[in-house]
Amino acid sequence: MPDDISDQLFTIVEARRDELVELARQLIRFPTVNPPGEAYGPCAEFIGRRLEARGFTVEYVRAQGTPGDDDRYPRINMIARCEGARARPCVHFNGHIDVVETGGGWTVEPFAGVVSDGKLFGRGACDMKGGLAAAIIAVEALLDCGADLPGVLEISATVDEESGGYGGVHYLAQRGWFSPSRVDHVIIPEPLNVDRVCIGHRGVWWAEIETHGRIAHGSMPFLGDCAVRHMNAVIDRFERDLYPQLSQRNTAMPVVPAGARHPTLNINSLHGGQVEQTSGYPAPCVPDSCRMVIDRRLLIEESMPSVKAEVTDILDDLARTRAGFSYSIRDIFEVNPSMADRNGPVARMTAAAIRRVIGRDPEFICSPGTYDQKHIDRVGKLKECIAYGPGLLDLAHKPDEYVVIDDMVTSAKVMALAAWSLLHNAA
Ligand SMILES: [Zn+2]
Repeated sequence: MPDDISDQLFTIVEARRDELVELARQLIRFPTVNPPGEAYGPCAEFIGRRLEARGFTVEYVRAQGTPGDDDRYPRINMIARCEGARARPCVHFNGHIDVVETGGGWTVEPFAGVVSDGKLFGRGACDMKGGLAAAIIAVEALLDCGADLPGVLEISATVDEESGGYGGVHYLAQRGWFSPSRVDHVIIPEPLNVDRVCIGHRGVWWAEIETHGRIAHGSMPFLGDCAVRHMNAVIDRFERDLYPQLSQRNTAMPVVPAGARHPTLNINSLHGGQVEQTSGYPAPCVPDSCRMVIDRRLLIEESMPSVKAEVTDILDDLARTRAGFSYSIRDIFEVNPSMADRNGPVARMTAAAIRRVIGRDPEFICSPGTYDQKHIDRVGKLKECIAYGPGLLDLAHKPDEYVVIDDMVTSAKVMALAAWSLLHNAA
């Protein structure tokens, strides 16, 4: 890429440092807390109005009928499109506008957008309104650099990422918005740090296992059958058989932290017997039910059916060998792993842009948890998707969440240059 264009883009972005901070502050001031999905419409329209003024064609898509969508909390998504000389290639930046609840422990007002010590504080500062603001400034810098736009630039501001993305990217992907027939490359500015290219994420399976028993008086447990003891047998088999197997299994995915380069299994919750009470004495009963929610994270090398079979094989074996054992299992949520080609254009050109802006080789990583890439890959059928953006994932969802202002500026330069390269590469 010619240095003059890079320098020109960097100068434009640098000149907009204050505007970038102000834009991110304005986004933070919309309390887009999910659940329930507060202020989605006003936040989406704020971004849409700004881009419309810059010549983008803006569309709003309400995800009718998706979880949580009603007239009080409509799931409003915004897609903005700016066409250049040709309809392809199309480079798309996608950011989610929803944030998680604030929780306790804040020392600053979470929705004020406080700036202090070179950092911008607030719920969503890092995850991911700082990144979305940087992407918007990057795209505007491209339009202002005077060079012809050979292809198409798109920005979407979507909702419900924190609750699975069904009212956001999933809904749009189902309706073709991320189809390879209209989009070529997607960058999601999730907070994965300015010198890392995230090419994918592990998968997820949540399920609830229930063991069944028979209620009886607690003074004569031999007259009943204790569901908690049956569940203990399940956990014992997990400890002896399943956990050792999982820790032996490795992945080619460059997941960070490295501890997540194995499949993991968390026991999210466990409850047996009577409903917990805060006052009075419980009645003496043998529990006839025990329920456990598990959270299994999958590697790209694993298949969903084999992951499920590992658990049900243990349960079926107990049903054969343990007197009185019976169980049921219910799927709650599942997501397949996703990984883009690190030698594909979007990963390669973003890496090259990082080298040019920061002066060192980027790290290619995968995320231990998931984000909206799953829907773009698995539903939209578009593999050319990565996450790249400012901020540290460790700060996401915490009190006093912040993004370093220099990092927002750096990532805006990287995104501008990466988009420029992608538009000209295929032109
Ligand atoms: Zn996020």
